[in-house]
Amino acid sequence: MQWKGRKGSRNVEDRRGQSGGGGMMLGGGLGVGGIVIVIIVMLLGGNPGSLLNGVTSTTTQTQTAGNYQGTAEEEELADFVSVVLADTEEVWEDVFRENGMTYRNPKLVLFTDSVQSACGTASSAVGPFYCPGDEKLYIDLSFYDELKQRFQAPGDFAMAYVVAHEVGHHVQKLLGTSDKVDRLRRTLSETEYNKYSVRLELQADYYAGVWAHYEQGRNLLEEGDLEEALTAASAVGDDSIQLRSRGHVVPDSFTHGTSEQRKSWFYKGFQSGTIEGGDTFGGSL
Ligand SMILES: [Zn+2]
Repeated sequence: MQWKGRKGSRNVEDRRGQSGGGGMMLGGGLGVGGIVIVIIVMLLGGNPGSLLNGVTSTTTQTQTAGNYQGTAEEEELADFVSVVLADTEEVWEDVFRENGMTYRNPKLVLFTDSVQSACGTASSAVGPFYCPGDEKLYIDLSFYDELKQRFQAPGDFAMAYVVAHEVGHHVQKLLGTSDKVDRLRRTLSETEYNKYSVRLELQADYYAGVWAHYEQGRNLLEEGDLEEALTAASAVGDDSIQLRSRGHVVPDSFTHGTSEQRKSWFYKGFQSGTIEGGDTFGGSL
């Protein structure tokens, strides 16, 4: 992706080097198995508040704002996500306007170790996430090492996909989709709800694809970029993650969709570039 020397977003909140809420204390019956599940479930999105209800912060926030200086590599990554965020702002502003709506920019919070959000305190282990309560994306840049090493999804456009997916959740918040699904959550069993969660996540992948469609239209994609994003979408599929971590697959527990589904919805968005084409709730996936 061509990003160097391009302008970044003003909507990045750098909270690196601050401790989000101190040590995390387990309560409310969330055992060690619970932690593992939270980590898997939270990968690339979801709502940590609803999952981390049992986790309470035990120490007060320490403020060391503005003093954080990462390695040259970290600073470059921070610049990169800022440019990607700026691109999502431009694209979604246009797409919303064309549909007679007004886009509201989300904030992107960079953090290290743990962070306080309107959805609760979250540790880096949950992976990048979006909190609808404060309309912010939260990313610990160390996740990108994991994406490259553990998930075997290298490349800048793989990293851009992660931001674009979380922005996709913000689009769902603005369109009212996530609120609708959240209301359903209270009325359904976990297994039933998981089916809606998968549809919500696949739609966020679709919206990430819509964004990539416009990046291509602006000649910002380089050779191999599309494949990088598709590899990343596939690597974070529930079946791939479960196979790697448990050695077997439990479809009822899927919350984000299979590798094949994630790849395919991203690609659909990439091809169509429209909001309408992303009805993941309408039919078969
Ligand atoms: Zn997600």
